[in-house]
Amino acid sequence: MAEPFIHAENLAFTYKGSGGAEDIPAIKDISLDIQKGEFVAILGHNGSGKSTFAKLLNLILEPTGGKLSVAGFDLCDKELSEDDLIALRRRVGMVFQNPDNQLVATIVEDDVAFGPENLGVPMPELRERVDNALLEVGMSEYAMQEPHHLSGGQKQRVAIAGILAMRPECVIFDEATAMLDPVGRKEVLDTIRRLNRENGMTVIHITHYMNEAAFADRIIVINDGSVLMDGTPDQIFARRDELRAVGLEVPQCAELIHRLKEAGIPVGEGKISSLEGCAQMILQSFAKEGASHG
Ligand code: ADP
Ligand code: MG
Repeated sequence: MAEPFIHAENLAFTYKGSGGAEDIPAIKDISLDIQKGEFVAILGHNGSGKSTFAKLLNLILEPTGGKLSVAGFDLCDKELSEDDLIALRRRVGMVFQNPDNQLVATIVEDDVAFGPENLGVPMPELRERVDNALLEVGMSEYAMQEPHHLSGGQKQRVAIAGILAMRPECVIFDEATAMLDPVGRKEVLDTIRRLNRENGMTVIHITHYMNEAAFADRIIVINDGSVLMDGTPDQIFARRDELRAVGLEVPQCAELIHRLKEAGIPVGEGKISSLEGCAQMILQSFAKEGASHG
């Protein structure tokens, strides 16, 4: 197999307490590989270390223990140059929670141009990148608008376009849907899914919404700075009780399957991570019941 895009081995990070405050070991022991093109959801309750992990991935924070390499860069190498850092951040983009903190210009297209312009991308390529990025997030018709007139979901899509205009290979979304209403969340999630499926973008989607994690190829559950689970959505949602023990709930359709099982109804194994899969499991159990009574 090719070298993974992200390789973490016993990764650790401790926030140093200042002024007599205690040190906070936010990341204690994370070992994982993420391949190019994967769509990985990272789940964990508040304070479990998700954002700290994201910040380590593009060197906003420096690891204090273990190994970490991203896009071929050894992030524990103290000799990493400023140029390497810029190259890393161009290849691994980050979208944060609050869209208002990420928009810098007064016109949408200027905002999208900001990143690549700083990288020194000349005209006419800059124009092309901005137009393409806006097209990819479905915001072309808003190019000349003022960002503050947009909805939360639209603002977040502009923020994503600003990252796409830098042509990254991987984008990390740190709770990028958390401040949005249901419509905005769906807009942004659909955009994220399309970028992964159609453009082969490596996506790391940090969320506490189980329904959103269900769309990923793989879910990594982080608890107390360590990896608690790593598997497909079907594998993860089958472990409801362990999830509950760390403050996470499975999606409602999966919860229904678990309750039917508890009630002694013979639902077999199936795709518990999707609504269709759960419906199928229930129908099959009816068919079985019908056969045994008939
Ligand atoms: P999550 O994103 O999963 O909510 P964080 O990575 O933000 O978790 O936080 C992990 C732990 O690190 C928490 O205990 C949090 O209080 C602590 N922490 C986060 N940021 C800082 C910081 N800048 N200084 C000190 N401690 C921090
Ligand atoms: Mg966070």
